[in-house]
Amino acid sequence: MKQGFSTRAIHAGQPNEEKTGSVTFPIFQTSTFAQIEPGVDKGFNYSRSANPTRQALEENLAAIEGARYGVAFASGIAAINNVLHTLKTGDHIVTCRELYGGSYRLFTKLYQKFGIDFTFIDSTNLSEIESAITPATRLLWLETPSNPLLSITDIERAAAIAKSRNVLTVVDNTFATPVLQQPLELGADLVVHSTTKYLNGHGDIIGGAVLTNDKTLYEEVKFYQNCAGAVPGPQDCFLALRGTKTLALRVQRHCENARKVATFLNSHPRVSKVHYPGLEDHPGHEIAKRQMKDFGAVVSFELDAEVEEARAFTTRTKLFTLAESLGSVKSLLCHPPTMTHAAVEPEVRRKNGISDGLIRLSVGIEEIEDLLRDLEQALAPAPRYEESLS
Ligand code: PLP
Repeated sequence: MKQGFSTRAIHAGQPNEEKTGSVTFPIFQTSTFAQIEPGVDKGFNYSRSANPTRQALEENLAAIEGARYGVAFASGIAAINNVLHTLKTGDHIVTCRELYGGSYRLFTKLYQKFGIDFTFIDSTNLSEIESAITPATRLLWLETPSNPLLSITDIERAAAIAKSRNVLTVVDNTFATPVLQQPLELGADLVVHSTTKYLNGHGDIIGGAVLTNDKTLYEEVKFYQNCAGAVPGPQDCFLALRGTKTLALRVQRHCENARKVATFLNSHPRVSKVHYPGLEDHPGHEIAKRQMKDFGAVVSFELDAEVEEARAFTTRTKLFTLAESLGSVKSLLCHPPTMTHAAVEPEVRRKNGISDGLIRLSVGIEEIEDLLRDLEQALAPAPRYEESLS
């Protein structure tokens, strides 16, 4: 019988070490490995090609994502880049309008230069996927929940459309994590992750991964991993492995806190809109309920304010730290238009619904009462000068 999620997270890929009995899988901090004779080794010959700690992480990530194969990278964007290495000039990708800014930059500033075409669509609207696919389309690239508006795409139906047209579906599962959403089970061919976020969960590494059940795709991605060389170091793999052990517990608490934060913001007079798939009026709520176990812990909201006031808000919180990134135990916040999505042209950004007053929260696992108090004081209107004198 298949083991439960946390059992796999704690055991998969990392047996007790044979020589010493160490119950924690070691960090093999080495560049190269002694060979028995030229060309004959004990399974490892050079750490760019393979390293035991990285292999442990790759097996572990595959096990929790419900995949047969895992390939780890030095960053989430390196993982995404590696999938694109499998394409050639003239190929076409259909992808969502609401994309992590770094992915958008990689697609438009690097790959378009090499003759790969992209069509950016609203992937929540399945007919847009259907009509954007051309004979040259190789990949349907999805992010759900999306960054930063938490839009929800129906993975099962989107992947079915792609499959019927011989197109592979890739899902960036960073926001949901494998605890909440398993895209491969829903028909996706590849999953990518920024392990920097929830999988590691402690805000102390940069990493990424590609997961798949398809042996041919795996071999291709693995080949380009060695070929292009963006591999994570053993120490970072060790930290990611430590992170996944507590992933399910952390995500549960993240989600509980996020739900309360979203509810609080939703009834606050200074907030004009809250984007959180757990709210019943979110357009993707019903699909999220079906394809996710819970709604995640990123909450975006629009302040009824000009850009300067939105930026000022981000410096008034005491527990939510103003920083790029998300998915750490520690709560963070950012102003997407001038931070994570600054790489997206302002007119494209606004067209995609990213308003100048948008704030994105990554809700951590601190005590919820403290987080709510922090938001409350930061949302309080700044005292007018005369009031501050009295
Ligand atoms: N995918 C998503 C959804 C992200 O939010 C990010 C980073 O914020 C990335 C990919 C890129 O990951 P990394 O920063 O580890 O390169």
